[in-house]
Amino acid sequence: MTKNESAPLKNLDMWEEDLLKRYPDRDSIAEGKSREEYRNYDNPERDTVREFYRLNHTFQTYDFVMKKRDEFLKFNKKEMPVWDAFQFLNQLVDDSDPDTDLDQFHHLLQTSEAIRRDGHPDWFVMVGLLRDMGKVLCLFGEPQWAVVGDTFPVGCAFSDKVVYPEFFAGNRDSQDSLYRTRNGIYSPGCGLDNVHFSWGHDEYLYHVVKDYLPEEASCMIRYHSCYVIHQQREYEHLMSERDQKMFDWVRNFSRYDLYSKSPERPDVATLKLFYQDLIAEFFPPKLHW
Ligand code: FE
Repeated sequence: MTKNESAPLKNLDMWEEDLLKRYPDRDSIAEGKSREEYRNYDNPERDTVREFYRLNHTFQTYDFVMKKRDEFLKFNKKEMPVWDAFQFLNQLVDDSDPDTDLDQFHHLLQTSEAIRRDGHPDWFVMVGLLRDMGKVLCLFGEPQWAVVGDTFPVGCAFSDKVVYPEFFAGNRDSQDSLYRTRNGIYSPGCGLDNVHFSWGHDEYLYHVVKDYLPEEASCMIRYHSCYVIHQQREYEHLMSERDQKMFDWVRNFSRYDLYSKSPERPDVATLKLFYQDLIAEFFPPKLHW
């Protein structure tokens, strides 16, 4: 794989900045309306994002997802405390980008603090802090398109409501006689627990932390990048009643995920004690990655 294929984006944040063009404000995300003129947007940055999605949609096949699960769900890469994972994540800061003067950890803190200010339970605050920790996959050498990007089910037909659906033509699964059908390998109402999604930081982190958090929190982590379900409301034929309830939480979280970034630097020294206690309340001293 060439450098351009592995890292088409200047940095991982470009994907989230692009999401803000698709869902520019809290109202748009509350109503599940993505901006129509989004697709006609024409600039060099957009071409970078397009290329990112071309690679993502081409290579995220059912077999690829199975391979990544096999590789990463053994958790034999690293043992580290949650707090160390934040430090590790900060190695992702891109020095060449003058706009990125806040590191990943500051962004996470801004989100968790916004959730805390609104009086949500501790586990919700915890999700705000943790949600993107799965991006450590990049530091394990994974290409950007297997770490970030909108996620979607594999093993059944790709929805044309996924961003840049035309790139699924390049995905081998689009030619598979079973995978290309509406239900694919699944049965209607089987529940999303039984459905495999494109591989990335959401699914990976879900498996790292799921035993330590309430199920609402695990679902928010697992599906936070699945805009095609939480905003476009596709794939409902595969969902269970439980999934419907869980996605209310995912939608609630989504507003914080996208709109709590600000140039203001949180006071890490003061917040550190609070968050260290909170982490200790939920997690053992070390996690397996
Ligand atoms: Fe994320």
